[in-house]
Amino acid sequence: MSDNQDFDLIIVGAGSGGVRLARMSAAKGARVAVVESRYLGGTCVNVGCVPKKLFVYGSHAGEDIEDAAGYGWNVPGDQISFDWTRLVANKNAEIERLNGIYGRMLANAGVTVIEGTASLADAHTVVVGERSYTAKHITIATGSWPVVPDVPGKECVLTSNEMFYLPQLPRQAVVWGGGYIAVEFAGILAGLGVETTLLYRGDLFLRGFDDDVREFTATEMRKKGVDLRFGVNIESIESEDTHYNVDLTDGSRLHTGLVMAATGRRALVDGLGLEGLGVQLSASGHVVVDDHFQTVVPSITALGDVIGTPQLTPVALAQGMVLSRRLFGDGQGEMDYACIPTAVFCQPNIGTVGLTEAEAREAGHKLRIYRSEFKPMKHTLSGRDERSLMKLVVDADTDRVLGAHMVGPDAGEITQGIAVALKAGATKAQFDSTIGIHPTSAEEFVTMREPVA
Ligand code: NDP
Repeated sequence: MSDNQDFDLIIVGAGSGGVRLARMSAAKGARVAVVESRYLGGTCVNVGCVPKKLFVYGSHAGEDIEDAAGYGWNVPGDQISFDWTRLVANKNAEIERLNGIYGRMLANAGVTVIEGTASLADAHTVVVGERSYTAKHITIATGSWPVVPDVPGKECVLTSNEMFYLPQLPRQAVVWGGGYIAVEFAGILAGLGVETTLLYRGDLFLRGFDDDVREFTATEMRKKGVDLRFGVNIESIESEDTHYNVDLTDGSRLHTGLVMAATGRRALVDGLGLEGLGVQLSASGHVVVDDHFQTVVPSITALGDVIGTPQLTPVALAQGMVLSRRLFGDGQGEMDYACIPTAVFCQPNIGTVGLTEAEAREAGHKLRIYRSEFKPMKHTLSGRDERSLMKLVVDADTDRVLGAHMVGPDAGEITQGIAVALKAGATKAQFDSTIGIHPTSAEEFVTMREPVA
C-alpha cells in the first residue's frame, strides 16, 4: 500500500455501502477515511429503511389495538388516541442512538471520519472545506436523493426526507407516485387516520412487481381506506392558507393538507467534480462503473445507490464487502444480482424474490403457477377483512421455482427464508417435501399442490 498518500482509501459518503467498505477495509489493515456532510448511516438509518419501519410499526399498532377486541380485550374506542409528536420524538431518539453506534463502529475500526462536503480536486485528492486529503483509492458512495417532477407548485411538495420530521399530521394527504416509498407512506398515513389519496400515472402501481401482487395489494390497501387513483398525474399545485389545491390531469382538483412526492430518486453527485476528472455519468445521472465498481479513472470506484444498481441497503452492503476484498484482499469477488429478495412495507407487506410471472413468460419459460389466497388465522377472531396472497412461479420443464411472491403480514420475514431456497435452485418437489410449520401463513408456501395455470 502507498505510504506517500494520507490514506489508502477515502470514501465519500458514510451510508450503508460506504460504512461497510470502510470497516472491512480498515480490518484488512488499510488506512481509511470517510467524508460525510450530513449524518452517519446515510438514507437507510436517517431518512429511509429504519425510521420508515418504525413508522410502519406505529401506524399498524392502531389495527392491533382494534384487533385485540376479538381476543377478549376491552378496547374503548373513545379512550384511544395517537400522539404523532411522541412517535417522531421516540423515532428521533432511536436514530440518534444508531448514529452514535455508527460513529463508535467507525472509530473502533480505526476509520477517520471527516465531517464536511467533499469534492475531488484530482484522481487522488479530496477537498473538504479548507483541507485536502490524498489517497491511493477514492470511492464515491454518496447515495441518492428524492426527485420531484417539475410541475408548477413543486416547492409545496414534501419528500420522504421531510416526512420523517413532519411537525404535525394533516387531516388529508396526497401521496404522489406508485413505487416503494409511495405505497409505504400511503399505508403509514392511512393507518394513523389521515385521509390518504395515492396518485399514480400508470394503470396499476408497483410496476415491476408480479401483477397478482399489484392487484391484490391495491385491493387490500383500498379496504384500509386508501383512495388509490390510477391513470392520473399532478398537473399543478397551489397553496391556499393552510391547504393545497392539487390540479390533476383528468381535470379534477383535490384539496389537501399535504402533498408528498415519492416519484423516484436520483444519484447524488452534485459538486463532486467527477465529470471534470473524466468519470462518466449515465443518461440517468448515475456514476458509470464496470462489474468491479471501477470508473474509467483507475483510482476512483463507486458503489451503492449512486451507481444505479437496485437501491437497497443489503445490495450496498454486499457491494462494500466485494469492493473491499478487491481493493485490499485477494483481489477476487463478484456481486451476484440474481434473486435479490425485497419487501415493501405497505400494509399488509409485500415480499418477493425471483421472477414475476410476466418476466418468466417473457424469458421463454413454460410455467406452472401456484397461487393461494386466504384469510390469515389472526383475523378469524379479529374479524378484520384482510387476506393474504402467496404465489409460486415454477418452470414446468425443470420444476425449478423461479419466483416466490407474497402479500400478507410478515411477508418480508418469510421471504428472506424462501430466498435461500430459490438461491439454492430449489424445485417445487423440494418445496413440497418440506414439512410445514403449523399453524403459520408461511406453511402455505410448501402446501400449494394444484397449479392454477
Ligand atoms: P420508485 O422508482 O420505486 O418509484 C417511483 C414512482 O414514481 C413510480 O411509480 C414512477 O412511476 C413514479 N414517477 C416517476 N416519475 C414520475 C413523474 N414525473 N410523474 C409521476 N410519477 C412519476 O421510487 P421510490 O421513490 O418509491 O423509491 C426509490 C427506491 O428506493 C426504490 O426503487 C427502492 O429501490 C428503494 N426503496 C426500498 C424500500 C424497501 O426496500 N422497502 C423502501 C423504499 C425505497 P412509473 O412506475 O410509471 O415509472
